[in-house]
Amino acid sequence: MPRTKKVGIAGRFGTRYGTKVRKRVKTILEDINKPHKCPRCDTKAVKRISGGIWSCRKCGYTFTGGAYLPVTPLGKEKGRAIETITYSSEKEPKQ
Ligand SMILES: [Zn+2]
Repeated sequence: MPRTKKVGIAGRFGTRYGTKVRKRVKTILEDINKPHKCPRCDTKAVKRISGGIWSCRKCGYTFTGGAYLPVTPLGKEKGRAIETITYSSEKEPKQ
């Protein structure tokens, strides 16, 4: 096996496709393969099934998320926005 210090997981492509593309693929592949927490059982057993579909190998919970991450930074922001809307509407007096 050749030295893959720089390209890591993208070393499987050898010298093909150029440095820039391989580095980009490296960051994405590392994001996909790192351990992800399950939103239901809290164990780090979530695996990517295909683009945007994630499944927990422990409890079998399948859910949608980002293409390369179960929860994207933008998705987190969206969740927070929805939370504030629901809480602020609860505070309003009922007619
Ligand atoms: Zn789970």
